[in-house]
Amino acid sequence: MKIFRDKKTLIDYVERQKEMGKRIGFAPTMGALHQGHLSLYKIANTENDLVISSIFVNPTQFNNPDDLKKYPRDIERDIMLLKNTGIIDAVYLPEVVDLYPDGLKSKSYDFDGLENEMEGKFRPGHFDGVGTVVEELLRQVKPDNAYFGEKDYQQLAIIQKLVDKLQLPVKIHGVAIYREENGLAMSSRNERLNHIQRDAAKVIYETLLKVNDWFHLITVSEINKRVKDIFDDKRGMTLEYFEIADEKTLKETDFFYKDKKYRAFIVVNVGVVRLIDNLHLD
Ligand code: AMP
Repeated sequence: MKIFRDKKTLIDYVERQKEMGKRIGFAPTMGALHQGHLSLYKIANTENDLVISSIFVNPTQFNNPDDLKKYPRDIERDIMLLKNTGIIDAVYLPEVVDLYPDGLKSKSYDFDGLENEMEGKFRPGHFDGVGTVVEELLRQVKPDNAYFGEKDYQQLAIIQKLVDKLQLPVKIHGVAIYREENGLAMSSRNERLNHIQRDAAKVIYETLLKVNDWFHLITVSEINKRVKDIFDDKRGMTLEYFEIADEKTLKETDFFYKDKKYRAFIVVNVGVVRLIDNLHLD
């Protein structure tokens, strides 16, 4: 597995591979890797000649400086994990200057309103930060296929929009959420939970499954109330938001239309750790 620590070596490598007609699959990450990340590479490996990973904790997408500071980092462990999969050809570990040559600031994007829903309301500037770093990474790595987790469903929708609007020559793939045995969506942030919190956090996915059972049987407002009640009773956990939204527009719905697809979105703070999850309703 090749390791590139700057933009120039990465770009030279990509150019050589492209000349040889290699199809590149790519999934960017912020490190602290787990099986959820690796599931992206497993799929990429079946659909491409070459798999490229990147690790970069992107400062512009954090609206909370403490969250950025506490974000788990263990680059040597990550490199070992990637190497041990035996399917990663190269990992890109850029420095800030490689992705932000003009200084650490976000571009300003119009994602047709997707950026104003859910996470957009709670994390101002977050999606401009994500867009800026993903656009730059896609321009440098030039993948044929890029893979993003459905765990960050709004991010996936926004990246698809970015690629469409900028007409970047890459196909975006969404990958199903990889879960721990108890159902908790795998996340780098789970490392910050103690084992009692980690066990208790399974209620997030259990709640989403209940919502799926209730889907079409009771009204949206009754579902919202029941979800709120579940978390009102949980000590050490606060529900930041729960919404059922149209899967395409990401707009919250207060009524189910037969011809539309819906997804439930939830964010819960367990202690000081912010956990995010979602489920397609069917
Ligand atoms: P992150 O390092 O958190 O920025 O995540 C990098 C990529 O991995 C994003 O596309 C995430 O959506 C994806 N990802 C993170 N956790 C999971 C998971 N549990 N299942 C599937 N994809 C995931």
